[in-house]
Amino acid sequence: MELEADVEPLPRGGFRCCLCMLQVANRSSLDDHLRGKKHRKLAEVRAQRKSQEEKSIFVSGFRRETSELELSDYFSSFGTICSIVMDKEKGVYAIIELQDQTVLQKVLSHPQHCMDGQKLRVKPRDKKEFKYILPKKQGSARGQELSPEKLSQALCLCSDVDEQLKQLVTLFQFSENERRLRDLLVTLLQEVFSEFFPGCEVLPFGSSVNSFEVHCCDLDLFLDLEHTKTFQANARKPQEEKQNEDKVPLDTLSEDSILSDVDLESASTSEILELIAAVLRQCVPGVHGVQALTSARLPVVKFQHKESALQGDISINNRLAFCNTRLLQLYAEVDDRVRPLVYTLRYWAKQKELAGNPFGGGPLLNNYALTLLALFFLQTRSPPVLPAVAQLKELADEGEKAIIDGWDCSFPRDSSKVEPSCNLENLRSLLAEFFHVFADFDFVSTVISLREGLALPLTDIMASETSCMLKLGALNIQDPFELSHNVAGNVSEKIALRFQNRCRDAAKYCRSLQYQRKSNKGKTWGLVRLFQRGDNTEISTTEEGPAAGDGLVIYLPSPLLVLTEVQRRNLCGTEGMQQFCFQKVCTALQFVLQDVLKCSVSLDEDDENMANAEQAVLQEEEPCVGAKRTLAEEGTSVPDSKRPRLEAESSKEERVSWHCTICHRVWLGRRKMRRELRRSAAPNLSQDVDSLQVEAEVTEAIAQQEHGSGPAQPLLTFRVSIVSTGATSQDCRTSLYFTPLQEPVALFQDFFHFLQVFLPKTVMKYIQKHTLDSPAGERESP
Ligand code: ATP
Ligand code: MG
Repeated sequence: MELEADVEPLPRGGFRCCLCMLQVANRSSLDDHLRGKKHRKLAEVRAQRKSQEEKSIFVSGFRRETSELELSDYFSSFGTICSIVMDKEKGVYAIIELQDQTVLQKVLSHPQHCMDGQKLRVKPRDKKEFKYILPKKQGSARGQELSPEKLSQALCLCSDVDEQLKQLVTLFQFSENERRLRDLLVTLLQEVFSEFFPGCEVLPFGSSVNSFEVHCCDLDLFLDLEHTKTFQANARKPQEEKQNEDKVPLDTLSEDSILSDVDLESASTSEILELIAAVLRQCVPGVHGVQALTSARLPVVKFQHKESALQGDISINNRLAFCNTRLLQLYAEVDDRVRPLVYTLRYWAKQKELAGNPFGGGPLLNNYALTLLALFFLQTRSPPVLPAVAQLKELADEGEKAIIDGWDCSFPRDSSKVEPSCNLENLRSLLAEFFHVFADFDFVSTVISLREGLALPLTDIMASETSCMLKLGALNIQDPFELSHNVAGNVSEKIALRFQNRCRDAAKYCRSLQYQRKSNKGKTWGLVRLFQRGDNTEISTTEEGPAAGDGLVIYLPSPLLVLTEVQRRNLCGTEGMQQFCFQKVCTALQFVLQDVLKCSVSLDEDDENMANAEQAVLQEEEPCVGAKRTLAEEGTSVPDSKRPRLEAESSKEERVSWHCTICHRVWLGRRKMRRELRRSAAPNLSQDVDSLQVEAEVTEAIAQQEHGSGPAQPLLTFRVSIVSTGATSQDCRTSLYFTPLQEPVALFQDFFHFLQVFLPKTVMKYIQKHTLDSPAGERESP
C-alpha cells in the first residue's frame, strides 16, 4: 500500500496527515480525509505558494519611503510583475512575484540594480516548507486558560492528593497544538532573522522548554549570533585571505544582509537589540507591541504574536540561561515527582501573590527562583530525591563539560546517567514537608546552594573567592552555575516574610484531615483549599521600611553570625539582642562609609528618630557633615547611657537615618587599583594585613587620581536609613534603605550597585574584627 507523501503511519496504528496536522484512526478515514475539501484546498494552496515562490525575488536596500509603484516601475522593465508585497511598515524589504522563470532569470542576471541612487540587494526568494497554521481557537494560548472554578472541579474529582498534584501537570502543560504553535513561531523567526543575521540561531529557553510550561507562559528566546559574527569577520577580510581559507560552513549566507551596515563585534548590546526590534517590527508577520528594553539587568526585546496571543522575549547574551534551562529539564527527567511538585508550588505561590512578577521586574519571587527552591528542597531530603549540581558535574562526560562566562556548567544531558533516588516519600508528604521546612528556614544567615545541595552559612560565602560577590538579599538563592548571582536578589523583605508566613499557614493546613483525605461530603479538600486566595493582606506596606518605594535596599547579615557559640548563647533570647545588632551595624557602617569610602556622614536632620540615633552612634560633639573622627576601639562597646533607646520598650524595630556626601567615584577602577597597590607594596603587605585598611588606601588612591591634592567637590548626596528588626537569632536583620538626594540619579545607581556587594562584606569584616579581637559579645551582653 503506497502512502501519499504527506501521510505518516503512527507507531500505535492510525495515520497522521502532515499537511493538515491531524490524525486519523484507520485507512478508510484516511482515504476520506484525502478526498475531503480541507485536504484538497490545502494541497492547492501549497501548490500555488510553491509556484509563486519559484518566480519571486527578495529585494532590500531601497530607501524607506519607496512605494510599491516605484518598485513596480523599476522591475517591470525586465518583464511583467504579478504582485508586490512590502513589509508592513514599508521600510526594509519587498517580495516581488514575477510572471515566470524567464523574467526571474533576467532580473537575477542583471549585474547591479540601482534605484534612486541606492544599490539594491536582489536574490531569489527563500523556499520555505509550507506549514498550516492551526485556527486560533485550537492553537492560541489564550484559548487554553483554565478558570479557578474549573480547576477546583477537576481537582475534587481526583481520588487522593497525589493524584491532584499529577492532575495539575496534565491541566497546565501544553497541548500538542500549543507546542506546535510555538515551534512554528520559532521557525518563522529563525527564517526571518537568518535573512538579516546569516548563521544565527533562535534558541528557546525558560518555561517553554524546561518542562515546567503552563498555558500562556511567555516565549523566552536566545538569539545566538556567534556564527554570524564569524561570518561577518570573514566577509570583511580581503578577498585573497578568504580564498586561502576553508569555506565558512554557512551555505545559506548571502551578502544581502543589513549586517553590511553594522559591525556585530563592536556594536553595543543596545544597538543590536534595536536592530532586532526593527526586524521584528517590519519583517515578521503577526508581530506587534515590539519594545527594546535595553537598560534592564537582562536587556531584551519584547513582542507579542497576534495569532497565538504569545508574549515573547528575545535576548542575545544569555547562554547561561539556556544552560540552566537544560539543567531544569534534566532534573525533571531524573525523578517524576519533580514536575507535579513544581507545578503545584508555582500555582500556590501565584495564588498567594508570592511569585510571578506579572510585568517582569518586581519584588516577588520569579518562577525560576521558586523552581530552584523546590529543587533544593528535593536535594536536601534524607535520602535525597535529587543530586546536587556538584555531583552531576562528576557524571558529565568530555563532550558535556562546559565553561560559560567563566562558570563551570558541566552536567550530563542524559538523565539515565543519574542513579534513581531511594527516597520513597509520596507527593502529598513532600509538599507538606516543603512548607514545613521553609516555614522556619533560616533565610537570614544562610545562602541556598544548589551546587552543594546545602544551606551555606553567610560567613562561608563571604570568605569564598568565587561567591563573595553574591548580592545578599532577604532571600539568598545562589544560581547553580553563576555562583556570584543571587536569583532571588530582587525579593523584598516584605515578600520574604510573606513567603514564610504563607509556608507556615500551609504547613498547618497540611497537618489537617482536610488536606490529607478526599471529602466524602462534597466539601473542598486537598490542594483546592491550599490554593484559596484572600489571605494576602496581613502585612501592611509600612513594614517594608521607610524607602520601600524606591527599592534601593541592602540587607546586611546579622552580626550574631560572627559571634562565638558562647557569645551567641549569652545573648540570644535576651532583650538587648536587637540593640546589640543595631549598634554593631551602625558602628561598622559608619566606619566603612567614613573611614573606608571617605564619605562625610551626619545625622539626617529630618529623621524623626534623631534622638535615638544621636545616642546610637554619632557622638554629641561631632554631629555635622564632614566631621571625621577615629572610632575608638571601645566604640563597639557604647556605655549604657549612649546606647540607642528603643522607641518603646515593646518595639521590635530600631532605626536611624544619616545624611551622606561623597566626593569621588570610589567604585571606578577599584579592582585595578587594589591590584596595583598590592603589587607595589608586595613585601610588606602580607595576607593578614587589615583588609579594611587596604580598602581605605584604595579609596585614597582613587581620590588622588581623580582630584590630585586640590579640593574635591561633592559628587553625590544621599540618605541612608538603617533599620533593624526581629527579636530572635532567626529573624534578626538589618536593612539599609538608600535615597539619592540629588541628580543625576543614574550616577547614584552605579554607586549603589557597588555598595550592594561591597557593604555587606566590609561591614561584616569590621564587626568580626572588633567583636572577636576582644570578647565584646560577652562584655556587651546586657
Ligand atoms: P515563566 O515564564 O513561566 O514565569 P520561566 O522559567 O520561563 O517561567 P522567566 O522569568 O521567563 O521564567 O525566565 C526565563 C529563564 O531565564 C529562566 O528559566 C532562567 O533560565 C532564566 N532566569 C530567569 N530569572 C533568572 C534569574 N533571576 N537569574 C538567572 N536566570 C534567570
Ligand atoms: Mg518565561
